[in-house]
Amino acid sequence: MNYLLLSDLHSNWEALQAVLRDSQGEYDRILSCGDLVGYGPEPNRTLNWARENVDIVVRGNHDRACCGLEDLEWFNPLARAATQWTIEKLTHQNLDYLRDLPRGPVLVEDFLLVHGSPLDEDEYIASMADASNVFPYLEAGVTFFGHTHMQGGFMWMNGEQYPVSGPSAREAIDERFLDPDYAWLINPGSVGQPRDGDPRAAYSLYDSEKRVLQLRRVAYDTEAVGASMVEAGLPPALGARLNFGR
Ligand code: ZN
Repeated sequence: MNYLLLSDLHSNWEALQAVLRDSQGEYDRILSCGDLVGYGPEPNRTLNWARENVDIVVRGNHDRACCGLEDLEWFNPLARAATQWTIEKLTHQNLDYLRDLPRGPVLVEDFLLVHGSPLDEDEYIASMADASNVFPYLEAGVTFFGHTHMQGGFMWMNGEQYPVSGPSAREAIDERFLDPDYAWLINPGSVGQPRDGDPRAAYSLYDSEKRVLQLRRVAYDTEAVGASMVEAGLPPALGARLNFGR
């Protein structure tokens, strides 16, 4: 089975469209590591599409916050403002959809989908040290996670740990075989708000039969999305950061 893996879309419809054009015809099912909404200007359009097209989504912290399942006091002021803006805009159908999203981990074939980590949906796996706290709980196999907005991840081989990086700024695709003897923690990347210094939308394709993973990037018009966020009344800083991938 060929999967399109999307994480941290954050209501960025333009970025999602770029990803769907770039990956057209290359997958059978769509999976998401959560945070469909929050930050971006098109929450209803994004959720209407997700309800129709995404096979499995594990909920993210912004998905919980935007449907009232999470206290906003943990959010920074910009995230809180965008969350309140989103709550006011969402249709009842989309609020219900967010409330019903499952908490990770969700097992798909022989791999896991989580938002934060397999141990805690809100935990960040951002560093080698974070990953080393998680690997002892995983035997082998593949876990796809989101939350950090940083594409790539970590692999665990015979007690040693190594980073996995996505394509460089001059490349669009990094392809690798996920050896079943090792454990893999892979972030497919953030579609709608990358924070790894590359402003291009990030996503992945995974062929579960051949165990081949592609980490991919595709450019879109970040300035146009930033302008539409200002027009929508969202904090301008949230649009500006899209241009830098930070
Ligand atoms: Zn997120």
